[in-house]
Amino acid sequence: MRSTIRTRIAPSPTGLFHIGTARAALFNYLYAKKNGGQFILRIEDTDKERSKKEFEDDIFNGLSWLGIIPDEGPKEGGMYGPYRQSERLLFYVKAVDRLLAEENAYYCFHDDYYLEQEKKRLLAEKKPPIHECEYRELSLKEAEQKKETLSSFVIRFKSPKERTVAFKDHIRGPISFQSDLLGDFSIARDVAEPLYNLAVVVDDHEMNITHVIRGEDHISNTPKHILLFEALGEAMPQFAHLPLILGKDRAKRYVDTVGLPPARRDLVASNPPRDYLISFYDQVLSARIVPIRLNDSFQTIVDDMIEAVSSRRRTVEQAIAKANADIKAALNERQ
Ligand code: GLU
Repeated sequence: MRSTIRTRIAPSPTGLFHIGTARAALFNYLYAKKNGGQFILRIEDTDKERSKKEFEDDIFNGLSWLGIIPDEGPKEGGMYGPYRQSERLLFYVKAVDRLLAEENAYYCFHDDYYLEQEKKRLLAEKKPPIHECEYRELSLKEAEQKKETLSSFVIRFKSPKERTVAFKDHIRGPISFQSDLLGDFSIARDVAEPLYNLAVVVDDHEMNITHVIRGEDHISNTPKHILLFEALGEAMPQFAHLPLILGKDRAKRYVDTVGLPPARRDLVASNPPRDYLISFYDQVLSARIVPIRLNDSFQTIVDDMIEAVSSRRRTVEQAIAKANADIKAALNERQ
């Protein structure tokens, strides 16, 4: 049994630190700290082309701007390092090798053109666009020989057929997915080129993460992660998916429109919003609010937060009071 709570954020350094990361950081940080646990920063830089050092620095600066110092991370070090995926290749190679050897993964040699045509055909037949791979049952030996002559391939996970993958989400409650609809998802471009779904599972396991608290945009990845945890014989963390932050038009996410660029930080440098943000999120956590159907109110709160930190038109205290009132009203609405 793992006793210490360990949470993490795993941002990709492919853009400036944004409000979505700030929020995930606060939830994870507060949850860990409330339970005497540890908060870890892991940099997910498997996308070599889009990952940039300046964005990684911006993540470090963004966190310290929020007053959050990770217990472990690329700068802080720790017992479970390295904390950048680009430095953890050996772990992934080991996992991919194992999945291939135990026939839980296989090489798929279909190229993009084939996959596109297949998808078009399935959609035209009103079927779910799930790739059926003729290479699924090829032995590893045969596949390795084929690999010598074919340049286009990817490694896929062999999803079980007709299985319900269920988990209890700490925010949304019970959730289940049919494995047939997940299909044989890709886990690596090659043995030493892992993709997100594989790397995240390996890292969460190796780093002893007990609670994965992340944005709702990852909810459909979670059943894939569960299957991978099982195939690798690893203990499962618990999951909580935070609702997306909506923009004023409800359609656009704040993360797209409201980054927290340095200029904005400078504006509030003399009056850091940390207490405001922490108090706000603390309320959210301790009240056990399930903000899933509260997107309108949640959005109002976020609007206030942005307003408070960016223009200081409202004092921080007023903004907290307003946020608390919004939370209460939203809770009453739900009863
Ligand atoms: N790199 C992913 C992201 O930035 C992390 C997702 C996760 O927390 O598992 O969205």
